[in-house]
Amino acid sequence: MTEAQVETKQFQAETRKVLDIVINSLYTERDIFIRELVSNAADALEKFRHQSLIEKIEFDAHVPLEIAIDCDDKKHTLTIADTGIGMTREELETNLGTIAHSGSQHFFKQLEEAAKKDVNLIGQFGVGFYSAFMAGKKVRVQTRPWDGSEGWEWASDGGGTYTISPCPGLHRGTKIIIELKDDAHTYASKFTIERIIQQYSTFVPFPVKVEGKKVNTVQAIWTRSKSEITDAEYNEFYKFIGTAVDEPLYRLHFSADAPLAINALVYVPRENFEILGMGRMQPGVNLYCQKVLIDQHSENILPEWLRFLKGVVDSEDLPLNISRQALQDNALVIKLRKVLTKRFIKFLNEEAERNPETYLEFWKTFGIFIKEGVTSDFEHRTELGKLLRFESSSSEPDKPISLAEYVARMQDGQDKIYYINGPSRAAVEYSPYVEMFKKRGVEIFYTLEPIDDFVLNHLGEYDGKKLVSADRADLSLPEATGDKQPETQEQAEPLTDDQARKLCAWMKEILGGRIQEVKTSSRLVDSPAMIVNVDAYMTSSMERILKASGQSEGLDMGAKKEMEINTASPLIKKLASLQESDPAFGRDVVEQLYDNAMIQAGLLVDPMEMVRRNYRILDRMAGEEPSTT
Ligand code: ADP
Ligand code: MG
Repeated sequence: MTEAQVETKQFQAETRKVLDIVINSLYTERDIFIRELVSNAADALEKFRHQSLIEKIEFDAHVPLEIAIDCDDKKHTLTIADTGIGMTREELETNLGTIAHSGSQHFFKQLEEAAKKDVNLIGQFGVGFYSAFMAGKKVRVQTRPWDGSEGWEWASDGGGTYTISPCPGLHRGTKIIIELKDDAHTYASKFTIERIIQQYSTFVPFPVKVEGKKVNTVQAIWTRSKSEITDAEYNEFYKFIGTAVDEPLYRLHFSADAPLAINALVYVPRENFEILGMGRMQPGVNLYCQKVLIDQHSENILPEWLRFLKGVVDSEDLPLNISRQALQDNALVIKLRKVLTKRFIKFLNEEAERNPETYLEFWKTFGIFIKEGVTSDFEHRTELGKLLRFESSSSEPDKPISLAEYVARMQDGQDKIYYINGPSRAAVEYSPYVEMFKKRGVEIFYTLEPIDDFVLNHLGEYDGKKLVSADRADLSLPEATGDKQPETQEQAEPLTDDQARKLCAWMKEILGGRIQEVKTSSRLVDSPAMIVNVDAYMTSSMERILKASGQSEGLDMGAKKEMEINTASPLIKKLASLQESDPAFGRDVVEQLYDNAMIQAGLLVDPMEMVRRNYRILDRMAGEEPSTT
């Protein structure tokens, strides 16, 4: 080959960074690079098998589908060859020169962190191929595409560049040749390689041969009967299919003959990688037909909110040669999705019943996906409602309960389910919104994530009972009945209607457009005032979400709020007299009441302005005679 045919190229900046991390921060558990390369080889074989179902392939048709690993302990090289789909020159450049998540700073931070914490996590980032540089000082990739077009060689020492040059005479597939680093010579030993394959890659659905000898057992575990499979086998398969190192939280293995022939084996992992900040997950369930992979990481076989599941779905009813595009609106696939989703929701409900502790663990890690389901999956919304868990005024901290539990202990005459959103249990418990609930002994859910109200709004009702936020302006609580009689406490004499009306009008004048109306409250017990929402959608929690995501500009939130005052509160009564005797000071008090109520509603106020005003009020307390007695 002439010099002119070798082209030198730069890695994309992000790729260089990944390489840097892979080469420099990963010293332990190097073994996993074998797993990554074998899994790529298996993917390439699956892709070829699928392609050969779609069209007749002439080139190299006789070459069997397998992975061959060879070691040379004199030259210290390791070669992993597959007879899979291969890569064109363009594919070599994009697949091995760039990475899919390009540009995300966050991504690299996470990768670096993960690499420090547990090197096994890097497989999850889809930077699998580059792990070859953990053990290799030089890596060469020789590849020829399935259609028989020209072959190419890609080579790099993991620095800033790689070369690409023509490579004639190859068979179909990809061969990775690794020149091992001085401290990695053990990977040229056949015993080491056999051990690693047995540990990580026993489930690869193609023969893996080390020095010509097949070392794995090819098996489709999901088609075997449950009673024959041991827990250890199930867990091994999970590790294989989910590129995981731990054990799954749940597994569901089920078969059905009607209405469709299905074999499914799905797992719930222990970690939620989206919460860990690694961006949106790829779906983790592969679709098979009679043990042939039809759609890897299938977007179609389950709804999006179930993307955290790992596993396999196999249905004999699907046509083998269906293309990925055709899967999207294939009636059978849609039916399969329905059956699987229903079955999985049912499974979760059963697990929640059987072992509530484990279910809470699931809820803490994956509850966010159930919530996503409630807002996005109309078809399963009602069923998903049963899976929701929230803390409540009667639950222990950190022990959220179901809507069913709440309904079971509702009071006679109560026909609604109440909830209130806030940043923490403590903040909610001492907010004015729950005062009357406490007094009347009515249970109320504490929704502690900003998204929760949005979710409950979508759900609308549960078991025929409307879901109502306690910061609604039009809230009416059931009268206390039966054994839940409130302690009778002497309420102070409230302002007269006239006095109240006059005070409300004055307060509204001071607060202007920030509030639609100031009203006498029928449900405040101790607090002097609170903010309530007029609109069912533009609520305080919605305002928080919009503000946090920078979308609140131009919204007139004041038009959606009212302020309620407690006309029996001593402070409000004093304020009424300040209106006459010292309106300037009274103004400060009104402003401060408003700010306090806003804070209790979880909304932001101008802190500088508030501090200045606060000092004026304190000054007065410290130095001056109060103007009323
Ligand atoms: P991932 O496997 O998660 O996509 P990798 O870094 O392991 O990420 O591989 C990057 C891409 O390179 C693969 O998606 C595939 O397109 C291509 N690739 C890697 N190894 C092979 C192979 N043996 N045969 C064909 N293509 C391959
Ligand atoms: Mg890979």
